[in-house]
Amino acid sequence: MPNSAVRAEASARDAIAAARAGTGLRVGGLTRLTTIDFPGRLAAVVFCQGCPWRCSYCHNPELLDANAPTPWDWAQVLAFLHTRRGLLDGVVFSGGEPTLQTALPEALQAVRALGFATALHTGGMYPERLAAVLPQLDWVGLDIKAPLHCHDVLTSTPGSGARARESLRLLLASNTGLECRTTWHSGLFTENQLLALADELMECGVQHWVLQAHRSPLGESAEISLPLQRTLSGKFQSFRLR
Ligand code: SF4
Repeated sequence: MPNSAVRAEASARDAIAAARAGTGLRVGGLTRLTTIDFPGRLAAVVFCQGCPWRCSYCHNPELLDANAPTPWDWAQVLAFLHTRRGLLDGVVFSGGEPTLQTALPEALQAVRALGFATALHTGGMYPERLAAVLPQLDWVGLDIKAPLHCHDVLTSTPGSGARARESLRLLLASNTGLECRTTWHSGLFTENQLLALADELMECGVQHWVLQAHRSPLGESAEISLPLQRTLSGKFQSFRLR
């Protein structure tokens, strides 16, 4: 049996043992196929249970409670991924907040042993944990939620803005693929504050920025005027509105 297959079998066995012991990754949801969450890859998305922040616009409230019952155990997810070898090429760890869970490094290791590229969606709340798993990641989508002075209000968490900036610095200094993105509508913070955030990111060294127009629960998208788009776009090597 080739080495990679031996590693994958061993990881699957470890995952089953971890799930039985209650120490495996806690998974609140699974998307079996996505073409949009991991650039250039056909991927599955693993939604990790639990998030320490409480953003006012969170669209995944069912994932916030780290101790809530989960519909999947990690061994089931790995068994599913086993069946997708050769069909998918990547796995995205999203949330919730994946870096909340101490089981993330082992989960990444197991997924890589199956031959998948790995991606992380994070708010950057645990820079030390992010640094530890960076060598196991091919790509990171980092949410910078607001300018520093209003970040903590938006997340209802003191110190969250500073932590997100530390994660951004780590990622910019690494070779890991990075998408820095921000969700915005004028009720979250003002256009002037959005422009200030763009300047802040530019000064940090961000070259590619994605602005996500906030969607209301009814699916209505925030309006971002063309002049504002042009101004923001002029600050970055690439700028995308999503
Ligand atoms: S960081 Fe993400 S998952 Fe956590 S509360 Fe904010 S939007 Fe929701």
